[in-house]
Amino acid sequence: MNLLKQPVTALAGIGHQTAQRFEKLDIHFVQDLIFHLPLRYEDRTRIYPIGSLKPGMTVLICGTVEYTDTLPRGRKSLISRISDATGFITLKFFYFTAHQHNLLKPGAIVSCFGEVRVGYAGLEMVHPDYKILADGEQAATESRLTPVYPLTEGLSQSTMRKAVKQALSLCRSDNGVLTDWIPAEILQRYHYPSLAEAISTLHAPEESMPIEALQNGSAPALKRLAFEELLAHYLSLRQAKTRGENRHAPVFDGDRIAIDAFLRSLPFALTGAQQRVMTEIAQDCRRSRPMMRLIQGDVGSGKTVVAAYAALLALSAGYQTAIMAPTELLAEQHYRNFNTWLEGFDVRVVLLTGQSKGQQRKKLLQDLADGSAHLVIGTHALFQEDVEFHRLGLCIIDEQHRFGVHQRLALREKGADTGLRPHQLVMTATPIPRTLAMLQYSDLDVSIIDELPPGRKPVVTSVIPAERRDEVIARIRGWIEKTRQAYWVCTLIEESEALQCEAAEKTAERLSESLPGIRIGLVHGRMKAADKEAVMTAFKHREIDLLVATTVIEVGVDVPNAGLMIIENPERLGLSQLHQLRGRVGRGEGDSYCLLMYQSPLSDTARQRLGILRDSNDGFVIAEKDLELRGPGEVMGTRQTGAMHFKIADLARDKELLDQVQSIGDRLFTESPAAVQPLCDRWLGTAIAYAEV
Ligand code: ADP
Ligand code: MG
Repeated sequence: MNLLKQPVTALAGIGHQTAQRFEKLDIHFVQDLIFHLPLRYEDRTRIYPIGSLKPGMTVLICGTVEYTDTLPRGRKSLISRISDATGFITLKFFYFTAHQHNLLKPGAIVSCFGEVRVGYAGLEMVHPDYKILADGEQAATESRLTPVYPLTEGLSQSTMRKAVKQALSLCRSDNGVLTDWIPAEILQRYHYPSLAEAISTLHAPEESMPIEALQNGSAPALKRLAFEELLAHYLSLRQAKTRGENRHAPVFDGDRIAIDAFLRSLPFALTGAQQRVMTEIAQDCRRSRPMMRLIQGDVGSGKTVVAAYAALLALSAGYQTAIMAPTELLAEQHYRNFNTWLEGFDVRVVLLTGQSKGQQRKKLLQDLADGSAHLVIGTHALFQEDVEFHRLGLCIIDEQHRFGVHQRLALREKGADTGLRPHQLVMTATPIPRTLAMLQYSDLDVSIIDELPPGRKPVVTSVIPAERRDEVIARIRGWIEKTRQAYWVCTLIEESEALQCEAAEKTAERLSESLPGIRIGLVHGRMKAADKEAVMTAFKHREIDLLVATTVIEVGVDVPNAGLMIIENPERLGLSQLHQLRGRVGRGEGDSYCLLMYQSPLSDTARQRLGILRDSNDGFVIAEKDLELRGPGEVMGTRQTGAMHFKIADLARDKELLDQVQSIGDRLFTESPAAVQPLCDRWLGTAIAYAEV
C-alpha cells in the first residue's frame, strides 16, 4: 500500500484533530506535506561569538549567566545577562516563572536561539529559545538549516516538522511520488536539480546553503519547483483544449437571411476588425467541434455586437444561448441591448440574476428548460444547479477576467444533456500580457479586435490633487452647460461594499450642494435592481446630468453623451481597472476627458502609475507597463475571482520562467504525453477534476 497517498492520519502522531488543522492548509494526503514548503529557515548549525552579533541576526549563542534579576520598572520582566569570551548580551522575558528565575542563576551555562535587537543596555534577545546545559554538555547544533513552516491555529512547528520528516522518509523508500517527469536533458540545460533533490534541499537545506537565496526564491531548488508548478497549469489548459476538440458540438449553418437582416439593421457600419472576428466565429461554429474562442478587444471596441451575432448564429440554427456577465448592471444593460437588436427576429430574451426570485424565477427556469426562452442573459446565477436548458448551443462569457478559469469551464457543462458540448465564446477587455495569457487562456483560440469604431478620439487624461476639487467642480458645471453628461466615480476600500455605497451617497449630497441646478443621480451596488435600472435609464435619456457611482459602472455601461469622468482616489485601483473605468467615456464622437483626482501625498510608484494612464489609451501598453512596475499578481487582479493561486510559484518573482514554461510545455505535450496527467495531478489536484467534469 502506498502510504504517501493515504490521509495524513496514516502518519504516527497525527490524529483526527490534527488532520483537520492540516486541512486548513490544504494538506489532506501524506504526499501533500512534501509540497508544503517552509516559509523561512533558521540557522542553528553554528554557535556565534556574542561579540560578533549585530541587530537583526537570528542566531544560536552560548554563554555563562552573569546575573539574573526582575525589573519592576515599566512592564515587569526578567532579565538575564550572559557572556562569553567575546562579549555580553541581555536575555529578556516578559512572561516567566520563579522556576525559570532560579534556573538562570549566575554561573549557569545556557544556549539560546533568537533574534538580536538593540535594548536599553546594549544588545538583547527577547524570549529566546533557550536551554540550560548540564556540566560538560555541549550546545546542540543542527547539521542542517531548520525549516519554519506556514502553520495554522492549533498546529505547532514541531508537529509540522515531524510530519514532514515522516513523509520525506516515505518518499525515499517509494519514489513513485517523486517521479521526475521533466526530462534530464532539460534539467541539465537549466541547471535544475532533480525533483527529489529539490525537495530535500528545501525541507532540510545543508548548512552551506545561503538562506537568502532560499527565502527570496532564487535558489535553483525553488525555481525548479515553481517552474514545474507553472508547467502543470499550462499543461492542464492544453489538455482541456485537446479534450474539447474531441467533443462534438452543434453545427450552426443557420439562416443567412436572418443574419444579413440583423447586420443591416445595425445603426452603424461594422469595423474591419469586428467583421474579421465574426467570420472567425462563423467558421468555428460551422464545424462539429466546440468553438473555444477568446475575443480580446479594448474597452469600447464593440465586442457586444459580435456576441449578438454569435447568438443569432445559434438561434437561427435552433439552439439556445447563455450569456454571462459579472455584474447585474451589465447583465441588465445587455438585456436591453439584445432586446433592441433582436427585435423582429422572433427571439425571446430573458434575464436571470440573483434578483430573480420565487414564482418569477420558477417560470424563467421552466422556459429555459422547455426551450420557450431562447437567449438568457445573467450573472453567476446561471451556474446554479437547477438551471437547465432545452438545447444549449452557445455560452458567452463577457468580461471573462472577472471569472475564474474553472468557472468558465463549468458553464459549458450545462449543455451536456444534449450529448453535445456548447460552443464557447469568452470576451475580455483586460489585456493580459502575452506571457501571462498562456496560463489563463492557452486552451482558447484568440481573436483580437484591434480597431476602435471610427470617430473615437483618445480620452484626454489629467492627474490632479484633491486640493483642486473646486476647479474640478467648476469644470463639471461648464461641461454640463454644454449639454453633455459626466460621471463621478467614488472608489473606496473595495472589500467593503457598504462603506463604498455610503461614501458615494455622501459625495452625491455634497455635489448637489456645490452644483445647484444640476441633476445628479446615484448608483451603487446595494441598490435594488429596479432602482439601478431606473437611474441608468434616466442617465441614458439625459434626465440626469451627473452620475455619481461606485466602481459598479466599471464594466459595460455605455452612454456616449457622457464624456467627462472624475475618478476619486485613483491611486487605490489597479491600472487595468482604471483603464476599464475610463473606457466609459470616449464612446461618442466629441472630445472626452478623465480627471484622476488623487489624495496627496502620492508615492513615487503611484505617481508613475497614474502617469502611465495619462500618457496612454492603449490597454495593452498599460498592462505591460503595469506588469513592469507592479508584478503580475496585481495585473491579474488579486481581487478578481479569476486570479490564479499557486502553491509555490509567485508570478512576480518567477516571471522570467514563463517563456520556458510555454516552450517546454509544448514539447512535453507532444513528446512525453505520459507526463501530462501525473504533473496535473501533482500540482492541481482537485481543481483539475472540476475542469474535466
Ligand atoms: P466593449 O467592447 O467595451 O464591450 P461595446 O460593445 O459596449 O464595447 O461597444 C461600445 C459602443 O460602441 C456601443 O455604444 C456600441 O453600440 C458602439 N459600437 C459598436 N460597434 C460600433 C461600430 N462599428 N461603429 C460605431 N459604434 C459601434
Ligand atoms: Mg463590453
